[in-house]
Amino acid sequence: MLDDLRELYQEVILDHSKRPRNFRHPEDANHEAHGYNPLCGDTVNVYLKLGHNGLIEDAAFEGKGCAISLASASMMTEIIKGKTETEARDIFTGFQKLVKGEEEFIDAGDATDKLMMLAGVKEFPMRVKCATLAWHAMTSAMDNEEEVSTE
Ligand code: ZN
Repeated sequence: MLDDLRELYQEVILDHSKRPRNFRHPEDANHEAHGYNPLCGDTVNVYLKLGHNGLIEDAAFEGKGCAISLASASMMTEIIKGKTETEARDIFTGFQKLVKGEEEFIDAGDATDKLMMLAGVKEFPMRVKCATLAWHAMTSAMDNEEEVSTE
């Protein structure tokens, strides 16, 4: 990866971790799950408002942890809002391949740019669980499982 591109990615991730988007607890959320990453100490609560036909009408989170976990959660809420449950799960599947280094590039529509920014964690295996924590919590919330641990 080019150095200036890497710098840009780091800036965006830093921005999301310092000013997380959708960092709130919506009162009308109808699905939620708590995620915990014991390796790093990251915790996250993901709140979803699922409408008819599996549409994600709102997505938000609260939590604390490292910059990667917060940035990933923040970007995730932006990505999945307005998508369907199935689309969100598919994006997560692709994202997992990216951060595990199984794929170099994935086409996830308008989510592609954000996912590619987070893909850099594949060089830091310890950080993969930080990056995927909120996503695991998202699918747990959809499945009505209240707790998820990366262990
Ligand atoms: Zn972490």
